[in-house]
Amino acid sequence: MSFELNDELRQIQELIRDVAMRRVAPRAAEIDRTAEYPQDMFDLLRELELFTLPFSRAYGGSESVLAACVAIEELGRVCYNTAYLLVVQWVPFGAIQAGGDADQQQRFLPGLASGALRGAFSTTEPQSGSDVAGIQTRARRVDGGYRISGAKIWCTNSSVADFWLVAAKTGEEDTPGAINLFIVERGARGFEVGRKEDKLGARGVPSCALFLDDVFVPEENRLGPEGQGFKIVMEAFNKSRPIIAARGVGLAQGAMELAIDFVRQRRAFGQAVSDFQGVRWMIADMAIQTEAARNLVYRAAAAVDAGLSGPELGRLAAIAKCHATDTAMRVATDAVQLFGSAGISNEYPINRFFRDAKVLQIVEGTNQIQRNIIANSVIGRAGRT
Ligand SMILES: Cc1cc2nc3c(=O)[nH]c(=O)nc-3n(C[C@H](O)[C@H](O)[C@H](O)COP(=O)(O)OP(=O)(O)OC[C@H]3O[C@@H](n4cnc5c(N)ncnc54)[C@H](O)[C@@H]3O)c2cc1C
Repeated sequence: MSFELNDELRQIQELIRDVAMRRVAPRAAEIDRTAEYPQDMFDLLRELELFTLPFSRAYGGSESVLAACVAIEELGRVCYNTAYLLVVQWVPFGAIQAGGDADQQQRFLPGLASGALRGAFSTTEPQSGSDVAGIQTRARRVDGGYRISGAKIWCTNSSVADFWLVAAKTGEEDTPGAINLFIVERGARGFEVGRKEDKLGARGVPSCALFLDDVFVPEENRLGPEGQGFKIVMEAFNKSRPIIAARGVGLAQGAMELAIDFVRQRRAFGQAVSDFQGVRWMIADMAIQTEAARNLVYRAAAAVDAGLSGPELGRLAAIAKCHATDTAMRVATDAVQLFGSAGISNEYPINRFFRDAKVLQIVEGTNQIQRNIIANSVIGRAGRT
């Protein structure tokens, strides 16, 4: 299996790199500072027809997770938030494509593909994030559907979404199999999007609480067969995990480039800071780590494109997410260090990379959870030997 970029992928890379530099980079600091949803960036991504990139050609996609990683990397190199806009569009698209029936796919996928619709995905609750099985939101069966009650937090994109994929337990059981995903549509009575988090990083894409008070959801809005839809979607998310990891590669690359520009022009003790060996080795380490992360991410993405699934993919994808986002944090931390006091000033862009990198180690499965997946895969589950 090769993960060299072919001509088509190189063209995608060049196109997005050019747009990122000309149109995205000049907006990045302002999006972060104001924490306002960047509608202009959403419109730009729509214009570029990127909302279906990893998905089926029937929707105008390339059917390539590697292509999606390249796009995310180029955007993430200059603006985490703009790269995030693609990810939050791809999450509901991927979930409905994997777990939805023909009617749900027809109702939602064309709109998500064109950018006419926006969705959000919600499992996290105040008492349970990593431990998804601990969610307390309940879906009670009633005539024609379900009544859902509960509270969610950290639902990204929720204040601009047209529908929300909400995880809730059916029946009285507390097993993971009891969790189902429901499509809650705009205007549903008893449903409310709550306060927007004031965040350290990822500030341009809103994350809010959700409140569900006996919300009626019709049977046709349950994703997949009862007890199976959530599992199907979680398995599908293994395939998109390299995309999350690609944000780490882009962020690390961008932070390293800023650090190089800075140390080249900054002088100390009569010479350019970039001439000190200690500094050169720090930059060399950034390059080593970023390239290693890129290779892991491309390899995991190419494995998805080649049809790999199951635990082997789960392990590769977890390794890529964990290493690439830890790399982003390490590189951004060292880059701030090389900026000296300018690294602490909001006049310079580097502290934005540092703050966004921290988010990456926590979202879409914390890096401890990724390490659990990897450890289970290489030494078996704890207590079973
Ligand atoms: C910017 C942002 C956007 C988000 N967007 C969404 C979204 O759109 N939808 C959504 O549903 N959620 C979203 N989340 C929530 C995110 O998925 C959770 O924050 C994450 O899963 C961790 O859950 P938690 O915060 O409850 O931490 P906890 O699960 O309480 O974990 C606390 C700490 O304990 C560690 N820990 C927990 N269990 C283990 C274990 N078994 N072994 C070792 N360490 C462990 C964790 O890694 C962490 O360091 C978002 C979060 C952020 C910050």
